[in-house]
Amino acid sequence: MNNIFKDVAGGFISLMIGMGITLKEFFRKPVTVHYPRESLKMTPRYRSHIIFTPDEDGASKCIACNMCVNACPSQCIYVEGEKKEGARKKSVTKYELNFTTCSLCGACVEVCPTDAIDFSKRYNLASPDKERFRRMDLCKDLEERNRKK
Ligand code: SF4
Ligand code: SF4
Repeated sequence: MNNIFKDVAGGFISLMIGMGITLKEFFRKPVTVHYPRESLKMTPRYRSHIIFTPDEDGASKCIACNMCVNACPSQCIYVEGEKKEGARKKSVTKYELNFTTCSLCGACVEVCPTDAIDFSKRYNLASPDKERFRRMDLCKDLEERNRKK
């Protein structure tokens, strides 16, 4: 008879412990989000493909010096620029990134003398068309971001 009481008491205690854990989890803030309606904010050190970091007027700070092109171990950057009349420095006219071969090493960001590029926080890139990532146009991307402001 004693054994039956022991079993019932043991079962009850174990049930209470289990319910306690369930209750604690029930009131805890969820770590998941309703993707794609909601997106997570990425950590400051998260690296996605590079983008232009504009100046206060929204223009690119790139002076088409090609230092990032020469520093890139994967040869995935192509830059063109021109010196406008009266300007002291060149300005970028074309900046293409082949993201399919980029290793996100950061050499381009580190070497840039004008801090014109940085890693974006875009984590949900997907497309059935690989070409979209083979020629990512950073000038166009900046234009679109300025338009959305
Ligand atoms: S992060 Fe590295 S591999 Fe990618 S573009 Fe920059 S230098 Fe090239
Ligand atoms: S992004 Fe920086 S390193 Fe690359 S071409 Fe422009 S100014 Fe030079």
